[in-house]
Amino acid sequence: MKKIALLGSTGSIGRSTLEVVRQNPEKLKIVSLTGGKNWQLLAEQAREFRPQFVASAFEEVGNDLRAALADTGIKVATGPEAVLEAVFMSGVNTTVAAIVGAAGLKPVMAAISRGHQVCLANKETLVVGGSLVMEAVARARVDLVPVDSEHSAIFQCLQGAAGTPPRKIIITASGGPFREWPAEKLAGVTLAQALKHPNWNMGGKITIDSATLMNKGLEVIEAHWLFGVSYEQIEVVVHPQSIIHSLIEFSDGSVLAQLGWPDMKLPIQYALSWPDRWQQPLPALDLVKVAQMTFMQPRLADFPCLQLAFSAGHAGGLMPCILNAANEIAVQAFMQQRISFIDIPRVIESTMNSMQNGSVTSIDQLIEVDYETRRRAEELLEARK
Ligand code: NDP
Repeated sequence: MKKIALLGSTGSIGRSTLEVVRQNPEKLKIVSLTGGKNWQLLAEQAREFRPQFVASAFEEVGNDLRAALADTGIKVATGPEAVLEAVFMSGVNTTVAAIVGAAGLKPVMAAISRGHQVCLANKETLVVGGSLVMEAVARARVDLVPVDSEHSAIFQCLQGAAGTPPRKIIITASGGPFREWPAEKLAGVTLAQALKHPNWNMGGKITIDSATLMNKGLEVIEAHWLFGVSYEQIEVVVHPQSIIHSLIEFSDGSVLAQLGWPDMKLPIQYALSWPDRWQQPLPALDLVKVAQMTFMQPRLADFPCLQLAFSAGHAGGLMPCILNAANEIAVQAFMQQRISFIDIPRVIESTMNSMQNGSVTSIDQLIEVDYETRRRAEELLEARK
């Protein structure tokens, strides 16, 4: 039985994970849940799944959360350390990492150190700390199983490759809501427009990342670490229907792909069922209904975030951590309507240019660089006023 610490249970991936748990009660059990500010939903989830421990990363919701669960006997704690405590609960053998942003790094490292299987949705963890995370995974000999649909697709294709390394990985991208917008209209993109993804229903930050193509850039770095391929071996292709989730190409030119409806419950369930496959009450893929699958190159000049991510990946060292922190601040500023859509890559690029790259030495160093970068990005935002 998988005994799960679910980190980020109140988010989009967290809620879909609980849906998978609901459908597989004999195979999956929730031991601990963590959320953020949405204490009402966290309390509701705790009442349904009866974990031993519930944590919010934010102290300010502590009183409400404790009061809401006072009659349940469930242990409640708050703050970033409480999220780690959720990972350390006895009996947990599987951590589902569905926190958004760099805040997921420490909990994922904690789960690895405990020897858990880690089902990783939180791509920022690998972007920020890829080398240290993969070293820790190898040292602890744990399974790091991707949840991101593209990486799940590559992972599934690799199961069929019988150990033959791919020559190339092709990551598909929906292209986001502005795929066909003329460049001159992008300056006027509103928050509501950017939050409306054509195919996927996701949390706010990743939806904006999808609109700027930064999400694809973060996925490129994630794939580099997960599958041990160079950046030259990774190609991004826009596929607006989001039916082919990604592909691998072999040296003889043969290509394997994984297909499915755009619904995260499938890759989440696969991460939990791997190496087995369980029943999934989703409608079967109907190719006649799909009817058409189209492909095109990403518009790198109009959506510079993807290129910025490739550059950060090539630069290596601390630069992906810097890219990620600058992006988190720029996206937050856009969501607060402090900057325009086309300012997002500008803020990221100026922040990257103003920070010093170096080698990665420790998690504490990465947390420090993450903090410094956020401060720098905020300064640059202030200077724009
Ligand atoms: P959401 O914003 O919907 O959820 C994020 C979760 O993290 C919530 O539970 C939130 O709590 C919690 N949280 C927020 N800030 C912190 C913090 N500082 N410390 C601890 N917990 C925090 O995001 P998604 O579910 O969309 O995405 C989660 C991760 O999965 C991201 O890394 C994303 O890139 C990745 N992913 C998402 C996909 C999707 O379809 N949504 C697809 C593939 C990958 P609360 O809401 O209570 O404040």
